Amino acid sequence: MASPRRAVLVMCDGLRRDLITPEHCPHLTALAARSRCYDNHRSIFPSVTRSSAASVATGCHPARHGLHGNTMGLPVADGHAVHNVGAPEFVASLRAATGRTLRVPTLAERLRGHGGAIVFSNVSPGGAYFHDPDGHGYVYHRAGSFGPGRVPLLAGDHLEVTHDAAGDSAMTERFCIEVLQERRPSLAVLWLCEPDHTQHDAALGSAEHLAAVRAADRCAGRVVETVDRLRAAGEDILLLVGSDHGHETIAQIVAVEREIHEAGLKRELDSPDVVVAPQGTSALIYFSADALHRVEAVASFLRSRPWSGEVLVDAELSRIGMAPEGGLCIAVSMAKMPGQNEYGVPGLSATAVRFDANPKKIGCGQHGGLGEQEQQPFLFASGGDFAPGTRCDAPTAIVDIAPTVLQYLGMASGADRFDGAPLPAN
Ligand SMILES: [Zn+2]
Repeated sequence: MASPRRAVLVMCDGLRRDLITPEHCPHLTALAARSRCYDNHRSIFPSVTRSSAASVATGCHPARHGLHGNTMGLPVADGHAVHNVGAPEFVASLRAATGRTLRVPTLAERLRGHGGAIVFSNVSPGGAYFHDPDGHGYVYHRAGSFGPGRVPLLAGDHLEVTHDAAGDSAMTERFCIEVLQERRPSLAVLWLCEPDHTQHDAALGSAEHLAAVRAADRCAGRVVETVDRLRAAGEDILLLVGSDHGHETIAQIVAVEREIHEAGLKRELDSPDVVVAPQGTSALIYFSADALHRVEAVASFLRSRPWSGEVLVDAELSRIGMAPEGGLCIAVSMAKMPGQNEYGVPGLSATAVRFDANPKKIGCGQHGGLGEQEQQPFLFASGGDFAPGTRCDAPTAIVDIAPTVLQYLGMASGADRFDGAPLPAN
């Protein structure tokens, strides 16, 4: 009897499409040559990891799944408090504040009872847990690993790896043996922290950065080799290898909430009436009911600042996959500058923080906005009907991954359940 179809997704966090070269990414280059490559593939907004993980898991933009970004505002008396979505306890905070986690089902939920899903992730805890916040399958992360029912896994089963390239490598090794060869779920996800992790503290194109890119490439190569062996043994496997977003170089750091306060548009520096949830090269701004009359003034102020790029207010948020809800009224993508960094890598950007800029970050990588380079993840698909060695120019996005996986597994129905659509296979 033929074995059931299964899907394998590998994400190299933050690996920008134009930074994949034969020199630094020999495994990905070889994989691209025998895959279908998506040349017009885009991130979501904000182009950050945690909301992207939820978008990969659900096939929906934040307007529908409800996870606004790497940070987000939740209600408190008289306004909002900004929470770190990456913290392990944020799933519980979101549930306590809103009565739910994500508003739409994840792949793990859809595949429960249909071969299941196992996720191995080495990014932030939140970036891992929002693949499956309600515990339908298995999520392995160094801050805590969970099985169905969100039951914590025992010490011997828990994923104990370091948050760096060495941890990615150890995680990949275990993933290939235990998940791909032994447990064989319908969906296996491997989400590496590199090169994103290093890019946040190093210049794009530097020796340190290129070493992290090569490390991620080696992990991808290890999965490709394992999948090849399983296919040679007769298995039908869809392999998707990609990233969630690219990166740009920090040219300027702006304390956006402090600026809004100094412009006289919020009560106190730390008052909850108007709060800024920074997303790297973008920011989300939440207003209390009593401050809603200041939305237009804050938007005008932002538009007058040289460090602002696109400013979207209320109903305009729907143009970037966001919704005016939960006090969120404004999104700003920070300004882009012409030119390139010291290593000749194009893409310079202003970034947003709440109160205090750390000048040491100037020259390092960042992402989160609508810039050309940060909205440039890569995606290669092989297996099934995907035409090997071909390129696709049609616009695609990371929300297309979930419907692609479900269609491949024979579980597609009701296109309206997703913002994305199955990737064009040929
Ligand atoms: Zn990321």
